[in-house]
Amino acid sequence: MMERRVFSFSPGPAMLPDAVLEQIRDELADWRGTGLSVLEVSHRSDPFREMLEQTEAGLRRLLDVPAGYRVLFLQGGAHLQFAMVPLNLLGDRASADYFCTGYWSQRAMEDARQYCRVNVAASAESTGFDRVPAPAHGSLDPDAAYVHYTANDTASGVEFTSEPDAGSVPLVADMSSNLLTRRIDVSRHALIYACAQKNIGIAGLTLVILREDMLRAAKPFTPRMLDYRVHAESGSLFNTPCTFAIYVAGLVLAWIEREGGLEAMERRHAEAAARVYDLIDRSALYENRVRAADRSRINVPFRLRRPELEREFHAFAQAAGLSHLRGNLALGLRASMYNAMPMRGVERLVEMMAEFERVHA
Ligand SMILES: *Cc1c(COP(=O)(O)O)cnc(C)c1O
Repeated sequence: MMERRVFSFSPGPAMLPDAVLEQIRDELADWRGTGLSVLEVSHRSDPFREMLEQTEAGLRRLLDVPAGYRVLFLQGGAHLQFAMVPLNLLGDRASADYFCTGYWSQRAMEDARQYCRVNVAASAESTGFDRVPAPAHGSLDPDAAYVHYTANDTASGVEFTSEPDAGSVPLVADMSSNLLTRRIDVSRHALIYACAQKNIGIAGLTLVILREDMLRAAKPFTPRMLDYRVHAESGSLFNTPCTFAIYVAGLVLAWIEREGGLEAMERRHAEAAARVYDLIDRSALYENRVRAADRSRINVPFRLRRPELEREFHAFAQAAGLSHLRGNLALGLRASMYNAMPMRGVERLVEMMAEFERVHA
């Protein structure tokens, strides 16, 4: 077994489970007895197709994806979904509703505005993205093409504990940073998307789970590569998919199942989040301003009440083998703890933060 020296709290790409890294290493040169690396086989070969089917089956099992939903293995990151969602789902509707919970919701709205009127149904901007905003009475439009929400806004550290009620309007979720971290009710959504480099594997792959009635006529100027129907009809093999990223996702899904499934992931995230927020709330040095009920279990943004110590904090963390704790400069510090973060990484983080505070008391 490999011994980790460094734990990464990066918002993504993030850590992979040790067992998955070892498996990749062990089968890299000769995959499934083909005498070739998984990096070298055709996406139209039998072993690859079989692996793609197994990966989809694994995802369906874990998430309990109902019949009548398709799973697509796409590229372009969550960013491309910011555009593909309106291009494919608008039909002849003129507007879409968006919940605004921070940076990632804003990025999603920027793209949607190219194609339709964006109705901000609820926003937490005026309070500094410190909560999940509740829509005012009548602010959700029954004629909207869809309602979009960011299930876990990775930068502001705000997470929905359950999906918003969209009535009969199709509900769309960006779950890039919390898919597979707990049980969800897929059937309450018309479409869910997530990039893979946080909880599911490595960069390059984007998962889309959509209800079949969302395979509508896309806007006429939509490139075929951006049309969900094209990918659904070709079984995600319209062009060359991100073969290696799909392979890694398959290994991660199998690892999640072995670890006890989404219930086990949920328990770990609850424990990890409790430890870190508990330390922050008891400290005189650290602070997190998100309302307790809406705090992300996955991404914990925090600040030092003495901001001049931030640089030193980061160096102190690095020296303790805890990397990527700096958000981008505007965001201060942030600890991202995805599925592959082991509890001993969380323990090291909490010990290091307590020690830093002692040294600077
Ligand atoms: C990381 C992230 C994105 C961006 O993903 P890309 O793959 O870089 O396009 C979008 N939304 C959320 C919620 C994210 O966490």
